[in-house]
Amino acid sequence: MTNKPTILIIYTGGTIGMIKDYSTNALKAFDFSQIVQKIPELQQLNCTIKSISFKEPIDSSNMNTSYYVAIAEMIENNYDTFDGFVVLTGSDTMSYIASALSFMLENLTKPIIFTGSQLPIGDLRTDAKENLITSIEIAAARKNGQPIICEVCLYFEYKLYRGNRTTKISAEHFEAFASMNYPPLAESGVHLNFNEHHLYVPKNYQKKLIVRKKLETNVVILKLFPGITQAVVASILSIKNLKGVVLETYGAGNAPNEQWFLTLLKNAIKKGIKIINVTQCSGGSVILGHYDTSVGLKEIGVIGGLDITTETAIAKLMYLLSENLSDDEFSSYFNKSMRGELTNR
Ligand code: ASP
Repeated sequence: MTNKPTILIIYTGGTIGMIKDYSTNALKAFDFSQIVQKIPELQQLNCTIKSISFKEPIDSSNMNTSYYVAIAEMIENNYDTFDGFVVLTGSDTMSYIASALSFMLENLTKPIIFTGSQLPIGDLRTDAKENLITSIEIAAARKNGQPIICEVCLYFEYKLYRGNRTTKISAEHFEAFASMNYPPLAESGVHLNFNEHHLYVPKNYQKKLIVRKKLETNVVILKLFPGITQAVVASILSIKNLKGVVLETYGAGNAPNEQWFLTLLKNAIKKGIKIINVTQCSGGSVILGHYDTSVGLKEIGVIGGLDITTETAIAKLMYLLSENLSDDEFSSYFNKSMRGELTNR
């Protein structure tokens, strides 16, 4: 009998799971069932590690909501047996996936750590080993008999972030992610330091995990740019069955106050389409009505996304649109932090 934490690694694909085949010099997918044998360092960790993997590992650019559901179900089916989960995906859409999973997994009392790498695990200069080993350590970390982390996180290059606060910022640097509007939850150096004040702490550890598997995909991201034409906006807003738009605006939520633009948005809102205003800036918050160029948006019923990221706004939109909410309920849920994804001031 052992009371070592048990950690499940879920491998979905991405660069991390590649290893060099020295007979051909080519990179090929790694058999994750042998992970503990292939990376002997893992045996030094004070936990028991098991792994499962997608039948066909995929590049994260091929992820869609059915894969999100597959990941959620792998967690759900193993939730009672394991103390923590490390989910390996490609980094390209990892922020989108982690954001979606943060909404899909309600009443979480265990750590879900997303990680991956810029170089394959078999590469001599790989960042994969550090990312994987520390993610497992974080997933296994406990204090007073409870897991330290009880939320969906993303670990990359010595920093643990709240997953739904992250954005991929580099296709090249090992430091591939940033969390501009929320501090790191932990930093790994000589010691692994948790920023305890910033962690989510469940109010009730006994609540049962609820897994939300319905996500509305009739949504779009519309990024404004100077010179955007009426024809472009009109054609996007007239997409058949469109239910929601993440409108990427300038600065603190500003957009042209030309009449054609506001009229198109107003008519879309009247048809029941939800429009969320998020900023194109990598940091900071939308403040509707702060400038004259956002007063009109506020008046016609555009919902201010505060300091939410685009990745998380689209995930939250997919989640809330599938929940049958009234207009008032929808805006009120969107405006309040449900999983620590935005700052309520
Ligand atoms: N294209 C890869 C992916 O996102 C990149 C990576 O693994 O980081 O799946």
